Amino acid sequence: MSRPAVFFDRDGVLVEEVFYPETGEKEAPLRPEDVRLVPGAALAASRLAAAGYALVVVSNQGAYAKGKTTLRSLWLAHERFLALIGAEGVSLDRTFYAYGHPDGMVPHFSGPSLDRKPGPYQLFIAAAELDLDLGQSWMIGDRQSDVDCALAAGVRPILIAPSPVRHNPHPTACRAADVGEAAAIILDCKL
Ligand SMILES: [Mg+2]
Repeated sequence: MSRPAVFFDRDGVLVEEVFYPETGEKEAPLRPEDVRLVPGAALAASRLAAAGYALVVVSNQGAYAKGKTTLRSLWLAHERFLALIGAEGVSLDRTFYAYGHPDGMVPHFSGPSLDRKPGPYQLFIAAAELDLDLGQSWMIGDRQSDVDCALAAGVRPILIAPSPVRHNPHPTACRAADVGEAAAIILDCKL
């Protein structure tokens, strides 16, 4: 029987974004040693897994395409992420990365890509591979592209937005302060 999933954006949700002086931006970790879990992320994932949700990460990783790091370094950062969250007792069902970027400079990784959010492509692949019920599934992300991806796949979105927003610019999504609160919303809705 199909089961529900929680789709997670990775950076800014489960993994801390990192400020790099050389790029002047807070962004996804470019190197494995920069990977840090968001406090409470592993506990939130554990609670959702215990409630029967498949745990699937869907992440855009455009830094290689933009010439900021190597593909190998991004892969080692992924392995570091799995090791850190695994040490907290969390086993993810699948992780999907989209390495292309529309404004990239690296040949073969630049231009439009099917698998990049806000496209729902990876969610449909995950549903096929893991036999997921998208209509009973959720997505937790920190960007409008995560919300748009979820809506395109028929998945309920939760937007992580830490500071209170006076005029909610994302009326199509529930909001949560962090991934722990997002997990609590999902578990409350299941009752
Ligand atoms: Mg993010």
